[in-house]
Amino acid sequence: MRSLLVCVFVLLGTLGHAHSALNGPFESRQASTSSAPIFRITTDEFWLNLHHFLYVLGRAEARTNDSTRDAVAGAPPEAERGLKNLAADEQRVWAESVTAYAKGLSLKDAVREAPMPAVTAAMADAGDALTLAGVPIDAATREVLERAGPIYRKTWWPAHHAANLAWRESINALVGSYGQSILGFITTTYGMQWPADGYPVHTSGYSGFGGAYSSVRGVLVISSLADSTQRLNGLETVFHEGMHQWDNQVYVALGAQARTINVRVPVDLPHALIWITASEAVRRVERAHVPLVDALGIWKLYSSGAPGPMIRLKAPLEDAWKPYLDGRGTRDEALRLLLEKIALVK
Ligand SMILES: [Zn+2]
Repeated sequence: MRSLLVCVFVLLGTLGHAHSALNGPFESRQASTSSAPIFRITTDEFWLNLHHFLYVLGRAEARTNDSTRDAVAGAPPEAERGLKNLAADEQRVWAESVTAYAKGLSLKDAVREAPMPAVTAAMADAGDALTLAGVPIDAATREVLERAGPIYRKTWWPAHHAANLAWRESINALVGSYGQSILGFITTTYGMQWPADGYPVHTSGYSGFGGAYSSVRGVLVISSLADSTQRLNGLETVFHEGMHQWDNQVYVALGAQARTINVRVPVDLPHALIWITASEAVRRVERAHVPLVDALGIWKLYSSGAPGPMIRLKAPLEDAWKPYLDGRGTRDEALRLLLEKIALVK
């Protein structure tokens, strides 16, 4: 998800504190806070949706190697269908807008490469305003978006907006049924706090090649059109993206254990822990759920700038982290054992 594959482990600037070890997954389960929102899903962010549509179309035009993945492959044919009904001058303006992205923002990683995170955050704040006047983005990007805006609004926005609304209804229902149980499991497992008022989740027809990501600015963007974000997959995804907000704290907790045994912390380990833990949390409420890490073939991919595919972490996670999820030992004992086992992998 994030640009799931690269998402992760981002230094947000301020390091959180490492929590002390827990006694085991359910022994200190939090009191129910069923009235507090776990997520606040927004659906009406016109500029954020246009920005991401242009971003993925620009990546397709630039032929980036991720632009044919399932979550974004539908964008170019959808654009083509809409263009057929437009006047020639509108087709030209749209093509120029896509090309501007293809030569600029679309070449940047949405999670961490400036100015993408800042532009995305500004688009989220802009909501559905008529223009981008006063929005803190560069003049060239503003011009591209404002020229493309009226074309997007009449051609693709109605369908993307409808998808956003349907996605929110579906995911809110699942969060209503299972959210407190999943939240209790992951906060207790990690020994970390979820914000009292939940995380904002920004829906967009398209987001990135993984179907969802969260930027270094803490902006969670989830595609409402991707197969990989529907129903239980979407439930796993929203918690997955929220858990990324703990990346710095997780890295600190891992670092403390790594020092005691003189090993390094793999850069993709916080992400691998999320894949395993979020999917297990969903499987505990719905046994038929297939973990996204398996369903999407994530193990064979490189994540978070790691030197090798994530598969090298799989057996250590099953040997050291899964038993902890089943209630054995403390978090920090599990992290230490996990690091020991990873250090032995050649
Ligand atoms: Zn991720």
